[in-house]
This record gives sequence, structure tokens and C-alpha cells, in this order.
Amino acid sequence: GADLGGRVALVTGGARGLGAAYARALHAAGARVVVADLLDDEGRDLATELGDRARFVRLDVTDEASWAAAVEATLESFGAIDVLVNNAGIANAAPIEHLTLAKWDAVIAVNLTGVFLGCRAVVPAMKAQGSGSIINISSVEGMRGSPGLHGYTASKFGVRGLSQSLAVELGQFGIRVNSVHPGLILTDMTTRIDPAKLDIPLGRPAVPDEVAGTIVFLASDASSFTSGAEFVVDGGMIA
Ligand code: NAD
Repeated sequence: GADLGGRVALVTGGARGLGAAYARALHAAGARVVVADLLDDEGRDLATELGDRARFVRLDVTDEASWAAAVEATLESFGAIDVLVNNAGIANAAPIEHLTLAKWDAVIAVNLTGVFLGCRAVVPAMKAQGSGSIINISSVEGMRGSPGLHGYTASKFGVRGLSQSLAVELGQFGIRVNSVHPGLILTDMTTRIDPAKLDIPLGRPAVPDEVAGTIVFLASDASSFTSGAEFVVDGGMIA
């Protein structure tokens, strides 16, 4: 597999679900990993389980001061920040007449503004290093519409666009920016979705580990010429 020997990776929403799978896989590939999440107990447990190349940082991705503290803690612990996985996200599903402004604002704040704040927070350190890989988690809902997922879809299209503009601006500093677009993956977020109602050519939903390989690839030098790209990991669903 990829050798991330000593690379420092911060994973937002890293305490559970897909983020935890990314944190485990990056760690297994040799990275030093910061699990960043609102969930103290789950985040601490995971960092403890991973051991001395891992730590937990409490992070609210919607909060500027929280980002400043998380990046500072990362640099203090590990002396660098090579990989940022902007994975924290919420769905707030509702048909349009029931999508309150509060729900809309919350999904945009976490899924889109959170990604903006994260990218902005790590860029100074990555520029100083002359390298970095930013991996922004969008969705297949960042490529097509779905009923009842309006704020989510808008935020995920936003993440896709933000990734493109950052890739163009930051390439000259050795910083790569890519987006990943998972399909139906079994986590707490998707327990109420019936896979049979989706037309998935592979005929099943995925488990989080099946997306983690793409994240490790994008974190590693195996993807050294890959920037501004979009990785759909959906079992063929939107083909
Ligand atoms: P999940 O609900 O299991 O995990 C989300 C994590 O994000 C949780 O640990 C939560 O505490 C954290 N989080 C939420 N708000 C936060 C905040 N303000 N600050 C910091 N952390 C916060 O969801 P998941 O299925 O693992 O999804 C992870 C990401 O993958 C999301 O961005 C989601 O949109 C995306 N995604 C998921 C699927 C899927 O099928 N599960 C498909 C496509 C994209």
C-alpha cells in the first residue's frame, strides 16, 4: 500500500462513520493523524486506540477560532500539516416546504462554510512547507439532484466548486486540492435510506473502508499530479 511515513493528516468529522475509516486507513498507511470532531468521547477513544501517532482535537468546523486552535494543536503535536480531509457533514433532509431557514443555514455552515474555513486555516502552513493535499468530501449529491436534499445538494455542489477554484489558485504552491464524491455508504447518516430504491450497478451499498482507499491515494505521492479532480466512489450509481 501507500507509504505516508510520518505525513500529518487532519480528518474532520473523524470520530465516527466515514471520517473514522479515513483516520484509521491514513494511520495504517503510516500517517500521524489528528481526529477532529465535536464528539469528544468517540474521538478520544479512536485516538487512544490508534496510539502515539494519533491525537484527538475538539473541532467545530463552523467556528473560525476552533479552526485556529485545531491547526495550532496539530502543529504543536506533529510539527506539520500535510493532509486535510474536510469530511464533517450533516444532511438535514426535508422536502422544500419543510426546509426551514435554520436547517438550511446549518447544513451550509457545516458542509460548505466548514470546508472553506478548514482550507483557509491550513493554507499558510502548507504554503510554508511548499506542499499539501486537501481532500474535500462532497457527494454524488454534488453532481446531480436528489429529492429532499436541497441544502445538502447545494452545499456539496459548493464544495465541488470551491475545490476547483482552490486547486487553480494553490497549485503554484505545491498544494493539491481534490474532491471525493461517495455514493451510498452505510453509516449513521444513511440508516434511513433503502438501498433497494437506488439503482446501484454493483447491487449494494458500501462500507466506509471502501472509500478510504481513495483518501489514502489522494494523501500520498501516488497522486502527485492529481489536482482539481473529482473522484466518484458510488458503485456505478451515477454512471
Ligand atoms: P456521520 O454522521 O456518521 O459522521 C459525521 C461526523 O461529522 C460525525 O462524527 C459528526 O460529529 C461530525 N460533525 C458534524 N458536524 C460537525 C461540526 N460542526 N464540526 C465538527 N464535526 C462535525 O456521517 P458520514 O456518513 O460518516 O459522512 C461523512 C461525510 O461524508 C459527510 O460530509 C457526508 O456528507 C459525506 N457523504 C456521506 C455519504 C454516505 O452515504 N454516508 C455519501 C456521500 C457523502
